[in-house]
Amino acid sequence: MPQCYVTIDDSPTPHTSALCDFLYNHRIPALLFIRGDMVKTYGDKALIDAVKKGFILGNHSMTHRPFGDLSYEECIDEIEKTEDIITGIYKKAGVARPRRYFRFPYLDRGNGDRIERHFEKSNATDINSHPKVVALQKYLKEKGYSQPFQCNHPVYKNSSIANAADCLMTFSSFDWMLLDRHKGQWPYQSIGDLKRRIDEDQMLNEKGITSIIIMHDKPEPEFPPVFESLIDHMVIKGYEFLSIL
Ligand SMILES: [Zn+2]
Repeated sequence: MPQCYVTIDDSPTPHTSALCDFLYNHRIPALLFIRGDMVKTYGDKALIDAVKKGFILGNHSMTHRPFGDLSYEECIDEIEKTEDIITGIYKKAGVARPRRYFRFPYLDRGNGDRIERHFEKSNATDINSHPKVVALQKYLKEKGYSQPFQCNHPVYKNSSIANAADCLMTFSSFDWMLLDRHKGQWPYQSIGDLKRRIDEDQMLNEKGITSIIIMHDKPEPEFPPVFESLIDHMVIKGYEFLSIL
């Protein structure tokens, strides 16, 4: 049975409570990477409830700008402000804070390279040469950030991925491509297309291989059915959803 971790980027939105309830009812654990600006817009109530239900919060920066566009100091400010918000949410929930997790917006780790676009080329994820990437990795490690995944996916054999302080992924659902504002501009244009993509990904369906999936949390009204259909599809296919600590 294929195994996977579910991670969700860009929370909170007006749908966060419903999406977390949906996952909770399916007994699917998830790690939510939250944006500070979205907490300011939509409040922290849904995230407090999520933490109480056992969901884990990670840091996805304050304003979701690509870190390649920011100075090192601006990057640190983005991380620290969001960290304070997360600490506050755990305190309000009365839940002990687990380890710290961080995911770069657009998976741009500071050099302007959005690895999501060419993840299969693992040499694009070098964290050992670009000065800002190196400095950010050092900062994250010193502050105790790590990845919670026990991942045996082939791309994780690349040591710069396995040893990274930030959280990466092995499969992006591309759920956002079905938002009205994106529809028609990308190769996947229907739920059927995205389900087929899941079915056709060899590693995602390989017995004994662990995958890390990116889903999103988007405020648009058309989004929740996309999210729920894709999760339902994986449930029907018999995926095992691993817990995140
Ligand atoms: Zn994001």
